[in-house]
Amino acid sequence: MSARRPSAIYRTGSAGLTRDLNRVAVLRLIGAAGPIARTHIAKQLGLSPATVTSLTRELLDSGIVRVADHAPSSGGRPAVLLELVGSAATALGVKVAPDHLVGVRVDLDAQVLERFELRFDATAADSVDRLGDALADWIGPAGSQPPLLGIGLGLPGVVDARHGRVSAPMLGWHELALGDLLQERLGVPVLVDNDVNTLAVSERLYGRGRDVEHFITVTIGRGVGLGIVAGGDIYRGFRGGAGEFGHTTGADDGPLCSCGKRGCLEALVADPALVARARRARLLTSSQGIEKLLALADGGSAKAHAIFAEAGSTLGRAVGDLANVLGPELVLVSGEGTQAWQHIAPEFERTFRAALFSPLRTVSLEVDPWDDVKWAVGAATLVLRVNLTAPLDGSATPARPGSVPVEVVA
Ligand SMILES: [Zn+2]
Repeated sequence: MSARRPSAIYRTGSAGLTRDLNRVAVLRLIGAAGPIARTHIAKQLGLSPATVTSLTRELLDSGIVRVADHAPSSGGRPAVLLELVGSAATALGVKVAPDHLVGVRVDLDAQVLERFELRFDATAADSVDRLGDALADWIGPAGSQPPLLGIGLGLPGVVDARHGRVSAPMLGWHELALGDLLQERLGVPVLVDNDVNTLAVSERLYGRGRDVEHFITVTIGRGVGLGIVAGGDIYRGFRGGAGEFGHTTGADDGPLCSCGKRGCLEALVADPALVARARRARLLTSSQGIEKLLALADGGSAKAHAIFAEAGSTLGRAVGDLANVLGPELVLVSGEGTQAWQHIAPEFERTFRAALFSPLRTVSLEVDPWDDVKWAVGAATLVLRVNLTAPLDGSATPARPGSVPVEVVA
């Protein structure tokens, strides 16, 4: 891979990277909790006051942060309160799908400034190099203004935040230190998370989850995903393994799943399963896919409609059981599969409501129109402010390169 000069405000070298990630953590906290005093930043992130002073001086000098006010104090000098300047820096957010990439450049308020899309083959031998090429293009020339703070990647797989490793059967990646590899090449912080988690973060920060402490986002389409927001935070489980709802067992001895197990929910209700069923029923030829099946259902084909309805029935029951376990206030259904929602919905809602334990029947169900860009914005928020994340108990430690810094983010 070719070396590339780091863009904007970043330095090369490992010492530089640690500092960069601390700087991102400081920025996120200012974005989330600002206006905020330096002493509070130091306490909440577990950094020394000298480090915070030095980092915030750089941020003030670069115009990313400004002095908002001086807090009144009961004695001594009033504390300087710092806040973000919304348009002073950008972040890149990218959703990595098996066959394409969707990227956005956003400002510090997560407003989309630019959009990118590219065909991509995650299973190619050089896929990580190719991803690096695309990101290098999207970063733009070194020294671009406003400066780029970092890159957030959302992908369909388990991301071990502590160790920065990605395992994504759908992409053909196993125990891949993706964040580290890309960060080394690009010279900017690269934070990685499960794509449904980034979507849930986006909902929590900017969407329907803004005022909801407990909600789940279930995604349908090529796979079945789950993001869990519990008590206002993403619930990640041990080593990022939470949310693999698609690989819960939906049928004994069912169809083979991409993960190697049989009968996973995903192998029953995700797009490839529906297409396989439609081909067996001779509704589709071997070259036709889910778009054609949807077109048939929209055109009045009862058999095509029934395939979606059956998936809705299976999925609704499973999501109802999930709600019984987690007790959310809101269930969001999202993902490209919602394009067929009119065919899925009646059976889904019937079995979902039927599965709910009676005291939980007030849970709301909402469906999100399909929007790839929202996922990419969610990925960008890994780099930006993440106000659901900054712990207030001073337990945080500085971020680690190449992964979502759990101690800061979750
Ligand atoms: Zn599976």
